[in-house]
Amino acid sequence: MASFEQDRHQGRIYLSPPDVGSLELARVKEAFTENWIAPVGPHLDAFEREISDVLGGGIHAAALNSGTAALHLALLLSGVVPGDEVICSTFTFVAPANAIRYIGASPVFIDSEATTWNLDAALLAEVLKQRASKGNLPKAVVVVHLYGQSADLKPILQVCREHGVILIEDAAEALGSTYLSQPLGTVGDFGVFSFNGNKIITTSAGGMLVSRDAKAVDRARFLASQARDPASHYEHSEIGFNYRMSNVLAGIGRAQLDSLAEKVAKRRSLYLNYREALRDLPGIGFIPETGKDAPNRWLTCITIDSVIAGIDTEVLRVALEARNIESRPLWKPMHLQPLFADAKCYGGAISENLFLTGLCLPSGSSLAADEFDRVVTTIRGIWR
Ligand SMILES: *Cc1c(COP(=O)(O)O)cnc(C)c1O
Repeated sequence: MASFEQDRHQGRIYLSPPDVGSLELARVKEAFTENWIAPVGPHLDAFEREISDVLGGGIHAAALNSGTAALHLALLLSGVVPGDEVICSTFTFVAPANAIRYIGASPVFIDSEATTWNLDAALLAEVLKQRASKGNLPKAVVVVHLYGQSADLKPILQVCREHGVILIEDAAEALGSTYLSQPLGTVGDFGVFSFNGNKIITTSAGGMLVSRDAKAVDRARFLASQARDPASHYEHSEIGFNYRMSNVLAGIGRAQLDSLAEKVAKRRSLYLNYREALRDLPGIGFIPETGKDAPNRWLTCITIDSVIAGIDTEVLRVALEARNIESRPLWKPMHLQPLFADAKCYGGAISENLFLTGLCLPSGSSLAADEFDRVVTTIRGIWR
């Protein structure tokens, strides 16, 4: 018991805290010095350019004030209108499903596949084929790359193209991940990133919409700035939004982007080190390696077969919390949420099981070696 008391007095270990330093501060100071505190400014344009560079040739980017705003605009640009149906991964954070509802459209959920934990490509193909034969294809598909792991995009893109359905990648958790050497967020028609405080890089809050379609990205900037028509006065002919990122926050984003590679490398090595340090524990599993992607390992996720392990994820989570270590269940599927009780879902067993058996471990890029050891020692102690 003495050691529990000791742990409680040690610093809290967070799941994925912001990892910022002096370069971020310098960029913010620059914005102050040059008096670019207004929403627009040179950091904003530069951040968009630098994100495009990171994602490779031909990608255009619009910096927004959240990933959710980027999802909303991606859906609008896809032509989604009230009454439409949009297919979405059920195993996700709520943002994409909410964005579909903002438009007055309905999400139709699809389960995960065991190999990627993300949208089941074969099930999607079946659903689109069936719907095509009945003439009720969805306007768009939102595929979510959870925890930085790629969905199996090749067959997903292929079946979307076959049926003329737009593909939106929710890569909010997946900046710096690739699928068959291509950056996530650049495979479909639109890609969405988030720079919320706990993501791979942060601007405290922020997001980015990317696409190869320069016109669509221009229109995203227009819609994100209250849809102001060209005129010396304020002229408006359609509904716009206040969704633009501020120049100050773009400065933080630029500094964060400078160390993206290091941040990804750190999280990937944490994942490998967790695997190595915990793999002999009976009943433990890890977010799978697909062989097709180089995931950023935003969060290291484990699963527990409680029959074999003798403990379940909630026991482990509470015991970690008692030692001042934050962990979190995997995302609760949308078809289990009261908010979406009426929504249709194809399948569901895989994501339900992941929710019941999975836990995210502290994975921040600033996690120190002694903190990592404390997490591992604690987990091993609890297992016994
Ligand atoms: C964080 C997140 C979002 C939303 O991003 P915000 O910037 O917080 O609005 C969307 N989708 C997923 C999967 C996320 O994890």
